[in-house]
Amino acid sequence: MSQNAESTAFRSALEVIRAVEPRVADAIGAELTDQRESLKLIASENYASPATLLAMGNWFSDKYAEGTVGRRFYAGCQNVDTVEALAAEHARELFGAAHAYVQPHSGIDANLVAFWAVLADRVESPALKKAQVRQVNDLTEADWFALRRELGNQRMLGMSLDAGGHLTHGFRPNISGKMFDQRSYGTDPATGLIDYDRVAEAAREFKPLILVGGYSAYPRKVNFRILREIADSVGATFMVDMAHFAGLVAGKVFTGDFDPVPHAHIVTTTTHKSLRGPRGGMVLCGPELADQVDRGCPMVLGGPLPHVMAAKAVALAEARRPDFADYASRIVANSQALAEGLLRRGAALVTGGTDNHLVLIDVSGYGLTGRQAEQALLDSGIVTNRNSVPQDPNGAWYTSGIRIGTPALTTRGLGTAEMDQTAELIHTVLAQTTAGANADGTPSKAKYTLDPALADKVSRQATDLLAPHPLYPGINLA
Ligand code: PLP
Repeated sequence: MSQNAESTAFRSALEVIRAVEPRVADAIGAELTDQRESLKLIASENYASPATLLAMGNWFSDKYAEGTVGRRFYAGCQNVDTVEALAAEHARELFGAAHAYVQPHSGIDANLVAFWAVLADRVESPALKKAQVRQVNDLTEADWFALRRELGNQRMLGMSLDAGGHLTHGFRPNISGKMFDQRSYGTDPATGLIDYDRVAEAAREFKPLILVGGYSAYPRKVNFRILREIADSVGATFMVDMAHFAGLVAGKVFTGDFDPVPHAHIVTTTTHKSLRGPRGGMVLCGPELADQVDRGCPMVLGGPLPHVMAAKAVALAEARRPDFADYASRIVANSQALAEGLLRRGAALVTGGTDNHLVLIDVSGYGLTGRQAEQALLDSGIVTNRNSVPQDPNGAWYTSGIRIGTPALTTRGLGTAEMDQTAELIHTVLAQTTAGANADGTPSKAKYTLDPALADKVSRQATDLLAPHPLYPGINLA
């Protein structure tokens, strides 16, 4: 691909936008500058390819296409059929799945599609059966009450939030916590690792309809074969949300017991994190759940986003190339180098290290909350996010942890030597930041002091670290 083509494409797009609302064109340009200049360590972010980005900015956005490939509720969907079928085919081939549903607009939507597919498949409800065979008008008031009672009181067992689970796995602020009677499994307080015997015990006691595996902030591999055995032993459906580590599954870093696809009944993911695609979601499953999954629209989704499905097809095609496996293994090598660099400098890491794309620093060892650490790092040009650690005394808002991840910097081409330098910058900032006090003298969980000269110096060092690895080298907007 000539660099000229990428520059021309984005420059022309901005020129067209600028003629209508110049402030939007300016913000798009400014976002590129910000992303180019910051050391992005947010574990859930990445940089999609120019081809993926361009596939989203076009007239596919104008098309309604409710339904599935070849069975639409709107006329004129032949081109949407082409891109949806392509995205699904690439997803099936990439992950070795029997069925792929590529319509979910985001990870939360993919999880909702999966939950409702499992409920519709598993819950013995005569009212639901009637609704499924499209006799909705025959349902009586009593049927509807029964249906809500039956579907609304099912049990889910998922990883606790402070151990690294996700809000959508049955937690109160999310609709999943209102739909399901939820219990959580945590991690071993001594090691920070999942204790599979404790999960089995919780499953035996609680008898969930759905056992959920997957996480947002657990820095280790998960043995999905064991979780499937636990699910089978209590008759639960085993669902895995691989939103964070889908890129490591695609790149064959997680294989065998650590690849969720052969072990789970249903797998959900986002497409924009380590998988490096457009912002969106996806569901994979076997033939048994395929029909229910395909009812995602209209069950919980509106019309699909054809422009994003086109971009999913592009990104999944990229992930099927051999260099994606190399990318995935470099993500983990970088994450381990970052962890080792931090440990060598005295940082405390949850579980003592990592075997995936993320590292969780317990910043209480530096006398800071996650909130203070996150802001001090941001002042120094290092973008991270605060995160709870297991049994976090500071709760989910202030937290005691900083989550860092390597998918984005690995895309830019940074390697293990630069990860050690990144560890040095992070440690320097955290070691030099001091927690502040409130007006009444009590310790503050948000205020902190950091010498601005040091923050500036680290910021410049971060820029120097990035300089040999320009982001989107083929795009020149000047
Ligand atoms: N599932 C997991 C494990 C996640 O980490 C996230 C996002 O952080 C989601 C689901 C939700 O994804 P989205 O933000 O696309 O809705």
